[in-house]
Formats: sequence, C-alpha cells, structure tokens
Amino acid sequence: MSRPTILRVPPLSPQLHDAVGEQYDAVDLADLAEHAEDVVGIVCSNSGRVDGDLIAALPRLGVIANHGVGYDNIDVPAALERGIAVSNTPEVLDDAVAETAVALLLAVRRQVVPADRFVRAGRWLEEAFPLTGQVAGSRVGILGLGRIGRAVATRLEALGCTVSYHNRHRLPDVPYAYAASAAELAAGVDSLVVVVPGGAGTAALVDREVLDALGPDGVLVNVARGSVVDEPALVAALADGRLGGAGLDVYAEEPQVPAELIAMDTVVLLPHVASGTHPTRAAMRALTLDNLASWLADGTLRTPIPEMTTTGKDS
Ligand code: NDP
Repeated sequence: MSRPTILRVPPLSPQLHDAVGEQYDAVDLADLAEHAEDVVGIVCSNSGRVDGDLIAALPRLGVIANHGVGYDNIDVPAALERGIAVSNTPEVLDDAVAETAVALLLAVRRQVVPADRFVRAGRWLEEAFPLTGQVAGSRVGILGLGRIGRAVATRLEALGCTVSYHNRHRLPDVPYAYAASAAELAAGVDSLVVVVPGGAGTAALVDREVLDALGPDGVLVNVARGSVVDEPALVAALADGRLGGAGLDVYAEEPQVPAELIAMDTVVLLPHVASGTHPTRAAMRALTLDNLASWLADGTLRTPIPEMTTTGKDS
C-alpha cells in the first residue's frame, strides 16, 4: 500500500526531517513540481513559510503540522478557507521558553556577559567590576500572560519580583495586577517581558511610546517574535540611553541582527533558541508527528491551532 505523501518545508531539524522520511513518502520543495498533486500534508517549523501560493499549489493538501507554538509563518486564512487542518506544539515548550526569558532578564540586569568578558580580558587584575542592577525586588511586566507568560510569572515570583501583565482580556484567575495597555504596563515596571504571538495583530506593539514608558533604567526582554517590537525604535532608544538594556532572542529579519545591537554592551543577544533544549525539542518533534499521524488516521488533531476550534473546522 502506498504511503501518504508529505511535503517537508525547511528549515527542519535533521531528526524531524529524517523521521518524516522514514514514516511517509517525503517530498522536498525542490521536487515539488513533480509531486504537487500527491501531497496531503506539510510538516514545517515556524521559520519556514507556508504561504497562500504554496497552499494553492497543493490540491490534495489536508493538514499542516507546525513544529512550534507560534504559527505566524503560515497563511492561516488561506488554509482554513480550504478546510485544511493546522496544528502547532503548545505547552511542551513553556518551561524552556520561560527559562530563557528569565535567563535573559538576569543576564542583562546582572551584566553577566560583560562581566565574563571583563574576566577573560584580564581586567579584573587591574580594577573591580562595577555594581549592577538586580532582579530580586524589582517590578516586571509580562506582555502576553498566556501559557509561556504564566510560566515566566511563577519563576519571577520565586525570584522575589512583583509581576503585572497586559493581555487584550483581563484574566479572572491570576494574582497579578492588570494594565489596560502595553504602554501603561511599561510605565509601571522596571522590566518588560514580551511573550505575545507574532503576526499582524501584534506588529510593533512595543513601539517608541512603550519603550519610553519603560525608561532609561528599564530592560526589555523579547522571546516572542521580532515583529512585535519596532526594532529601529528599540535600537534608537538604547543608543540614546532612553532604554537601559535589552535581552533578545528574536529579531525582525532573522538571522540578521542590527550591527548597532551587536556593538552594545547593554544588550544580550540569543540566536532564537528559547525552546532549543534537548528534552523540549524532542517533545515538540513527537507532538508534530503525533498531530500528523492522528489527522491521517481519523481526521483529528492532538493540538489544533485555536482558529480551528473557533471556526469549527477541526478535521
Ligand atoms: P498563548 O496563546 O498561550 O499566549 C499568548 C498571550 O498573548 C495571551 O495571553 C493573549 O491574551 C496575549 N495576546 C495576544 N495578542 C495580544 C495583543 N494584541 N495584545 C496583548 N496581548 C495579546 O501563547 P504561548 O504562551 O504558548 O506563546 C506565545 C508566543 O511565544 C508564541 O505565539 C510564539 O510567537 C512565541 N514563542 C517564541 C519562542 C522562541 O523560540 N523565541 C518559542 C515559543 C513561543 P489575549 O488573547 O487576552 O490578548
């Protein structure tokens, strides 16, 4: 019996790429012209674009299994219009991403990276390292108190921070103060952690007004998407000293990072690795493959994206 044909949209980890190849008749973008009529499923990661043209080129496409909780890489309206099922990988990455957000906040406030450079350069032999800020006792705002945001909040509470948040909807079940806007949240905290989804609804949500509200002693941590922060405004605020520092995992044009940021000692820069741990990536991979297998078996998904459950097209 012939196996289902699945399109692998790069970049995929070698493990996921190979697993799809072992379980299915796998097709890569380079071979698409020959096999477009056969493809019933796509496996992609959230760095691989699945746009309307690609979806339109695959007449039998029924499922898109995304390796990642964020799916702003997929033209979801185009998929749902055709009744194509879309899955993501929520929850299994919450701990790793929250850990990264906290690591960035600690690294920026305690100047971990400059202090490491100071020791390596032999400067400790001549002078003492300057005093730093601290996270304990500080006020931290979470922009996007969802699954990952809540995991960040509990870690910050354990560190002795006062947590507040802004979502579009106020939550009934959390002990944190609510701010009615991103700017209001930023104005009342020392540091802001951004963990909203990407896409059109949050583009440049963190703009000059929010950065100025955070202020010259403020620290911005972004583990969400580069699109959520107005990057030129961020660079300007840091360069002018209107913002104290930043810890960034994501950027507007990855893997390009603005040269101005690379030259600054007040920022810590990670290469989009917030979920990049061995156990988390194994769990994300397993959930991606489970979603695909489940849809192929009976038309259901383990973890459909929320738009599917709200439109009722969950098959
Ligand atoms: P959730 O959907 O659980 O949480 C998202 C939160 O953002 C919700 O509380 C939502 O509340 C809020 N939100 C959404 N839109 C807005 C808006 N316009 N203004 C204010 N708040 C908003 O998602 P997760 O916590 O699972 O993931 C969040 C994002 O983190 C992902 O979409 C992904 O982009 C990013 N991420 C990044 C990773 C990395 O490697 N750096 C790894 C994993 C995730 P409400 O609906 O009430 O507004």
